[in-house]
Amino acid sequence: MTSTNTYDAIVMGAGIAGMYQLYTLREQGFKVKVFETGDGVGGTWHWNNYPGCRFDSESYTYAYSWSKDIIDEWTWTERFAPQPETKRYLNFVADKFELRKDIQFNSRVAKATYDEANTEWEVELDDGSTARAKFLVSATGPLSAFTLPGIPGRDTYAGESCHTARWPQGDTGWKANDFSGLRVGVIGTGATGVQVIQEISKTAKELTVFQLAPNWCAPLNNGPISEEETAYNKEHAQELFDQCNATFGAFLHAFDERSALEVSEEEREALFEKLYAEPGFGIWLGNFSDIMTSPEANQLITDFIARKIRQRVDNPDVAELLVPKDHGFGTRRVPLETKYFECYNQDNVHLIDLNKTPIEEIVPTGVKCSDKQYDVDVLIYATGFDAVTGALRRIDIAGIGGEKMTDKWADGPSTYLGMQTTGFPNLFTLVGPHNGATFCNIPRCIEQNVEWVSDLIGYMRDKNLNEIQPTQKAEDDWTVHVDELAQQTLFPTADSWFMGVNINNPEKKRMFMLYSGGAPNYKAKCDDVAAHDYDGFVLK
Ligand code: NAP
Repeated sequence: MTSTNTYDAIVMGAGIAGMYQLYTLREQGFKVKVFETGDGVGGTWHWNNYPGCRFDSESYTYAYSWSKDIIDEWTWTERFAPQPETKRYLNFVADKFELRKDIQFNSRVAKATYDEANTEWEVELDDGSTARAKFLVSATGPLSAFTLPGIPGRDTYAGESCHTARWPQGDTGWKANDFSGLRVGVIGTGATGVQVIQEISKTAKELTVFQLAPNWCAPLNNGPISEEETAYNKEHAQELFDQCNATFGAFLHAFDERSALEVSEEEREALFEKLYAEPGFGIWLGNFSDIMTSPEANQLITDFIARKIRQRVDNPDVAELLVPKDHGFGTRRVPLETKYFECYNQDNVHLIDLNKTPIEEIVPTGVKCSDKQYDVDVLIYATGFDAVTGALRRIDIAGIGGEKMTDKWADGPSTYLGMQTTGFPNLFTLVGPHNGATFCNIPRCIEQNVEWVSDLIGYMRDKNLNEIQPTQKAEDDWTVHVDELAQQTLFPTADSWFMGVNINNPEKKRMFMLYSGGAPNYKAKCDDVAAHDYDGFVLK
């Protein structure tokens, strides 16, 4: 075993959160090390390089807000930037602030063990090397641990295949988004599946989509950003960030305070039509305030979107397959699309309903459903993630008394503020379960998370404190609060990654994984806790 280096803080992951955590702690004079599994910065935007991958947050609201230089020097080309542009942006930030010198790439943290006597964490990497730090910050991402289906025969497939989160590098052919002459299969129709399907359909000889449940998709309405708009966005950047920070999801879109039930049918339809034609998440997060809380209000927008799908898909039988029947609009994460439904009007695109004809096995040449075999040259798994807790579950984390985090959270996570859990002192979970940042225009809330943790670590240094963990009561109360908030919404009525549901992780308990009280309330609570000397935490 190699010698152990010691730091003030170790950060796991060099995505948007890990990069900013490194920057802030380093600025405060702490010695920080980031361990990153991949060979570059960017996290989600490093790994998810499948064709069609892009934001559905307005680019300039997704960007970091903490450096005027970054805002001035970086120009977004599209309202919703494609993944290569975002990856370039994050590399630009890493270069500008020399972040790489404190990041060790190709280094997966396999194990983290709390040393009670020394009040510090020891982490062990895949290669067996170790490092120690007083503070351990997980910045591993809520959607990074991808899942592959346990379909029999998956390993026997002889063609080329990948999960969307591990798209292979290549300069030509399908790896470079040219599917000409190829028969392609895609399994999965979540936000990722929708993006990759609409892209592959442009060039594939045949594209067969294997769908379990359809999702309520709405138009992205993307477009280039003009020079005038760019100038405005740069000049008014802080106002735009403030505008985001004041809304439920920290997007530009704020709910319309009226109820969908109190306005006339004409007014309602007019707003629905307007939002459907506008860019981004307005149709979800700028809609009538009760579409996510009242089943009657939700039914109205659900019926509207169903009508749109039926108008856009030529074949009525195919349209019916694309209209969700088991959940209301917005109760799952809404995929934003660009001519997704029109793909199914093309002769080269075929939609298979796995509820009627389930996949029986993967065979060397393709996918065998109960009625028929579909031979494909390339098979894409857009089958989602072990969401929110997955990346942590894959690390062997042991706290006080050797308690494993996987055991503590076997029946689901329990946390205080989504930042800490008892028995695991000095470990902070950025964008973790029950954390406001998990239901958010993520960088906006990442900045809140990171700054809160950095302030806390600075506070502990100033007061000569060595250890922090929540009281059991604070944790229990927060965990109940998170659940109660979720019960006031319609989210628990649908199976989705919000509820920890992915059929490839059947062992995971169905429970709401996020914080649904809105970004402003979450920030206010965190600020209040800090203002009261970290009320609810035990500091030693
Ligand atoms: P997802 O929403 O969990 O969707 C996974 C899909 O795979 C679902 O359609 C699921 O069907 C299907 N599936 C899973 N296992 C299967 C199996 N064994 N057999 C057949 N089908 C199977 O995952 P995702 O699409 O990767 O999206 C996850 C999240 O990533 C999104 O909600 C979003 O937050 C984020 N994302 C963001 C963007 C963006 O910013 N634009 C883009 C992509 C993703 P069932 O649902 O019926 O089980």
